[in-house]
Amino acid sequence: MRQGAFHLILRSMTKDLPDTYTSRVARMLSRWAGKRLSFTRKHTEEGEVLQHSPPPAGEMDTEQGLYIEPPKALAILAECDVLVVGAGPAGLSAALAARRAGADVILLERYGCFGGAITTVGMETLAWYRYEGTIESEGIGVEMERRAAAMGGTVKWPYNDSECLDADFFKLVADQLVRESGIRPILHCMAVDVIFEAGSNRLKGIVTESKSGRQVVLAQRIIDCTGDADIAHLAGASYRKTPKDKMLGMTTVFNASGVDKERFLAYTEAKPATYADWSRTWQQQTTGKEEQLRSPYLDKEFDEARALGVIPQDSTHLGGSWSSLTDAGEANNLNLAHMYGFDPTDVLDLTRAEMQGRTEALHALIALKAVVPGFEKAKLRNFSMTIGVRDSRKIIGRTNLTGDDVRNQAKFEDSIGIFPEFIDGYAVLILPSSGRYFEVPYGCMVPLEVDNLLVAGRCVAGDMVSHAAMRNMMACTVTGQGAGVAAALSIRLKQTTAEVDLGQVQAELGKQGVRLH
Ligand SMILES: Cc1cc2nc3c(=O)[nH]c(=O)nc-3n(C[C@H](O)[C@H](O)[C@H](O)COP(=O)(O)OP(=O)(O)OC[C@H]3O[C@@H](n4cnc5c(N)ncnc54)[C@H](O)[C@@H]3O)c2cc1C
Repeated sequence: MRQGAFHLILRSMTKDLPDTYTSRVARMLSRWAGKRLSFTRKHTEEGEVLQHSPPPAGEMDTEQGLYIEPPKALAILAECDVLVVGAGPAGLSAALAARRAGADVILLERYGCFGGAITTVGMETLAWYRYEGTIESEGIGVEMERRAAAMGGTVKWPYNDSECLDADFFKLVADQLVRESGIRPILHCMAVDVIFEAGSNRLKGIVTESKSGRQVVLAQRIIDCTGDADIAHLAGASYRKTPKDKMLGMTTVFNASGVDKERFLAYTEAKPATYADWSRTWQQQTTGKEEQLRSPYLDKEFDEARALGVIPQDSTHLGGSWSSLTDAGEANNLNLAHMYGFDPTDVLDLTRAEMQGRTEALHALIALKAVVPGFEKAKLRNFSMTIGVRDSRKIIGRTNLTGDDVRNQAKFEDSIGIFPEFIDGYAVLILPSSGRYFEVPYGCMVPLEVDNLLVAGRCVAGDMVSHAAMRNMMACTVTGQGAGVAAALSIRLKQTTAEVDLGQVQAELGKQGVRLH
């Protein structure tokens, strides 16, 4: 029977009942019949009845394995001068620097906290390379470390004077930095596409996805601090990705509680590890001066556990560093369980790596409990919020850094800061105790094909060995700060990021306390 006829019969049957009853039944019948109805929204104590307009059906191209979305109007969530996407060490520094240079700044982040790998991976060792003789980058990185220490959120690193950031506490440090600077924060929001100015290669915004749906953020300048160069990739900039079989591993960092700190420290004194021990796992190339320095390192212990049969024989990628120990019996930042052969820009690889990572991290803890004094009663406190990614897209930039540059104290006219000769990755380990350092060029943040976009952090342009230096958090703060200042000044000077006056950028960086040469 047709809906209209049914409604008439229903009406005659219920004519003595209040109208609301009739219409409610009619609505119910219509819904059973598959029809969508508009209905009056009423406020009740339980909240208004709401209904989202669903999209019309798109087209399915099964041959190509594609779904073609119907066009959609998106609400503009916000507009600003400088939009920083991603709030790790690079993003935080970029946002603070742009704000200090006078821009109205939005810092947008996919997770619920700022800090990137610090807070979401639990990577607390911001400057563990700082053995005696190191010449450090000055600027926002060091400032963040000092602020965390002043707020009581650091613990001394075991073998030199650098501070381990308390990873969870750093969420509060970052909140405070963001709040007091007047940066406009947007958390729980992922950038998923880009918007160009009509007929040009200049970016003017991004498309976001969040619990509020698909929306738009417009900006005069965008700084990509996503670690994976997501924005550059979406905008069509060229980039490189290390082949999967050569990529630096991903790691599930974990923290343990119930550790007897004194007994564990006595064990590490009885069996001191040095950087020479790293070669057992990674065949490191060093300059020799690193070999005898003490390192918070464990790996023979996992061989012992395998020999005892307490962990599987094929659990072979265990070994690495421990970090801060607290008087409350916590061993933090246990960087021991590594996963290889996964691409961090492939959602299914990420899924497999996360799940395998948790299993391997548990094997690491079982091994520590079985063979390391002080860990007998240890308990898993938590896994990192997300698996840690070291290696991903790196843009092709105006300047592409090389291993030669970072190993030979390179100098650049467009320097936006310095970074000590600290190289950690792709089988090279060089610590900067010699006082050597290199300059970081503005050009490594400038993509070739897209304007008004800068890329800072671990995805700047360079080869494998230069990445082993530039991926370090303090180096990411150097590019972040440089990009933030350049983006803000380019607006004030009415220039694009490709053509911005670098003399003025360097002058502003100097005012912000950055060492350029
Ligand atoms: C296990 C491990 C150990 C490490 N050990 C050290 C160490 O001891 N010392 C050291 O200096 N470095 C270390 N590193 C390297 C260092 O942590 C990273 O290279 C560094 O944090 C990179 O900083 P970043 O700001 O470029 O990116 P990240 O810290 O990765 O931050 C990127 C941010 O962008 C957000 N984001 C990503 N995509 C989007 C998107 N599309 N939309 C919105 N937000 C997005 C992410 O959620 C994240 O918060 C380690 C790395 C790992 C994984």
